Amino acid sequence: MNRAIFLDRDGTLIVEKNYLHRPEDVEIFPGAGVALKRLADTGFKLIMVTNQSGIGRGFYTLADAERVNEQVCAELARAGVHFEKIYIAPEAPDQPSRGRKPSPQFLFDARDEFDLNLAESYMVGDKVIDLECGWNAGVKKSILVRTGYGEKAELESPGPVSLAVVVADLRGAAEWILAAA
Ligand SMILES: [Mg+2]
Repeated sequence: MNRAIFLDRDGTLIVEKNYLHRPEDVEIFPGAGVALKRLADTGFKLIMVTNQSGIGRGFYTLADAERVNEQVCAELARAGVHFEKIYIAPEAPDQPSRGRKPSPQFLFDARDEFDLNLAESYMVGDKVIDLECGWNAGVKKSILVRTGYGEKAELESPGPVSLAVVVADLRGAAEWILAAA
């Protein structure tokens, strides 16, 4: 069985910009490429799981979100990073959704497609819904990064956050996982 790192996009891999939908606005966090490459070299499959409610709200299209993802992938590919799969939940929070975090459904889908052991996998994100998504799927640890909305989550939701590992950024998450693995 395989292990995976599930990664939120906005605020985790790239700088959070409200309803980002233009490839030219993509700004990868410093060191993200190196951190992800180290995880991949250790044998983790990298899988992106992103809520894009701006689509459901009519602010931009699925094609816009996919172009942004292509930009993220192209920039990280220069560091030798490859994502096994990208899951997008396009619904607004008030719309029915199969996979919108904190739903664990995309993690279950990935488990079935890539023969993953979720109990040896990790979820990394900057919001409590990311942490919950990981817990709902039964991952080994949900990790909160303090980038993006992470600091705000830490202040506003100390209860749930106390159950997570909290690190400065994606580099810190990689360090923690590699030390634990
Ligand atoms: Mg985020």
